[in-house]
Amino acid sequence: MEASPPFNDCPSQHNNEDYMVIRTKNKYDFHVYRPFVFFSEGSFFSNLIKDAQVSERKNGLPVATLEEDSEVIDPLLRLCYPGKLPSINIFEHFSEVLNAARKYCLESDLFLERVEEILMSSPFMKSQPERVYVLGVQRRMKGVCLEAAKRSVEMTRTLPQKLPYFGDEVKEITGSELLSLLDYREKATRVVARFVEMILEQDHVDSDDWDNAWLHLEPLPFDTSFESNRYRELGHSKDCIEGFISGPTVFAVVYPPDDLPFVHAVQAPIWWQDFLLDIARNYQAHPHRSAFTDPDIIRKAIARATDWCSKCEKDALNLSLRIRDWAESEFMELVQTWVKEREILKLTLEF
Ligand SMILES: [Zn+2]
Repeated sequence: MEASPPFNDCPSQHNNEDYMVIRTKNKYDFHVYRPFVFFSEGSFFSNLIKDAQVSERKNGLPVATLEEDSEVIDPLLRLCYPGKLPSINIFEHFSEVLNAARKYCLESDLFLERVEEILMSSPFMKSQPERVYVLGVQRRMKGVCLEAAKRSVEMTRTLPQKLPYFGDEVKEITGSELLSLLDYREKATRVVARFVEMILEQDHVDSDDWDNAWLHLEPLPFDTSFESNRYRELGHSKDCIEGFISGPTVFAVVYPPDDLPFVHAVQAPIWWQDFLLDIARNYQAHPHRSAFTDPDIIRKAIARATDWCSKCEKDALNLSLRIRDWAESEFMELVQTWVKEREILKLTLEF
């Protein structure tokens, strides 16, 4: 049987030294332009047709019979040819194509770049990221591994009940390579909790070392100039004042327009601390940005900030807007910057 274009028979190619025929196990004949599969003098296909091993010819062209079916050889050859990338719709075919490429010495840098390109945009990256990760490890494609690790974390949000799934190919990577993915998943879900711990446990920040104070003073969603006597005079309730006194002291940075930044120690209310912890817990269960703006958590924070103080209650609407804004932009951005700058999330792969 003839393969589909561009590998089907073409009369002008008969007896053309630049071509050969690759016959698959299921008897499909692929007319192949030799330079695309002969990478060097001693490459597999070059040897195959050089050493008088050619027992069969078709239209004068040497025929090499392979052990793989056309479903594997077709995408394999398309990966060697320039132009459009093949689509691989069955996950197992990826492994088979890659194994065949290794067997026939077709894994050039360009070939692997093209494989990487398909994997990055493949639907399997979304549906079976852990299996894609394993393929990435096997072929030393760090970009694929990292993307797959991210997708794997993302999946815990969309399908929280779904456990990571690994196919048989997992046997071909080492325990530490597998652990690296599991560790990444664990770290990614704990990342907000670690950030919150860090904010709340900061008991000393050198005022010269303003870079260590990650919170920005101005947008904080509570009164950053709390002072108990003043609060009493203004008519805030006992509970309201108590809420501030029992809250944490946090450090926040101010960036004056024409001066050096400086750090403030700020008395934060207890509801704000619990709000951060609630978001951290929520993110751990559903590691996605929406964890920062969970309406139930925001509602709870507003209630705790206003329910026990008639003075604060009057300001509830303004406060709710500030809390939401802060969580959605400032807080999320701070966590992201912290993760990025300090390389909190890393895949520890040794290649
Ligand atoms: Zn109050």
